[in-house]
Amino acid sequence: MGDNRLVPWREVNTWSCNACGNCCQGYRVPLKMEEFVKVSNTYGQNVLDYGMGKVYLKMRSDRRCIFQRPLMGRWLCTIQGMKPTACRLFPFQIHHRPVYSKGDNSWYRYGDKMLYIYLDPDCEGIISGQPNERFSKQILPEIINSGLGLATKQKFTTSKFIKWTPP
Ligand code: SF4
Ligand code: SF4
Repeated sequence: MGDNRLVPWREVNTWSCNACGNCCQGYRVPLKMEEFVKVSNTYGQNVLDYGMGKVYLKMRSDRRCIFQRPLMGRWLCTIQGMKPTACRLFPFQIHHRPVYSKGDNSWYRYGDKMLYIYLDPDCEGIISGQPNERFSKQILPEIINSGLGLATKQKFTTSKFIKWTPP
């Protein structure tokens, strides 16, 4: 998508994942080196795809991620504990300068850093408006910590729907 569709976080009331599954179809999920090692050690090489010097999660023939499973009208991720950073962050994007040249409502002070946070409007879980307390004080900090590699557990930023229990 073009950057001109990104929604600055200060124009969002809140966000939650409704497990629609749309973001796990048609996107190639890149893995960081440590993610590649964990996933390949656990699931083997058959779940991986290679290209242009990068490693991705494999997609099935319907272009859904190989780890996605349907359940009761929703879509579940079956590698919650090993979910790649790219998936943990969606639909959020963390930038180090504003995307819009005129300046925008995306600034977020993080310690002595200034970050610029946006959401991808293709996600169904975004509610527009003024940020509520849960969004600004719980969801956003968890996303930022995750994006900066500081958080490993998702408490506020994963789907509230059914959790996957491995067979
Ligand atoms: S993050 Fe958004 S697009 Fe992805 S499954 Fe959740 S609601 Fe759907
Ligand atoms: S790893 Fe999980 S969240 Fe990421 S694309 Fe696959 S099913 Fe979706």
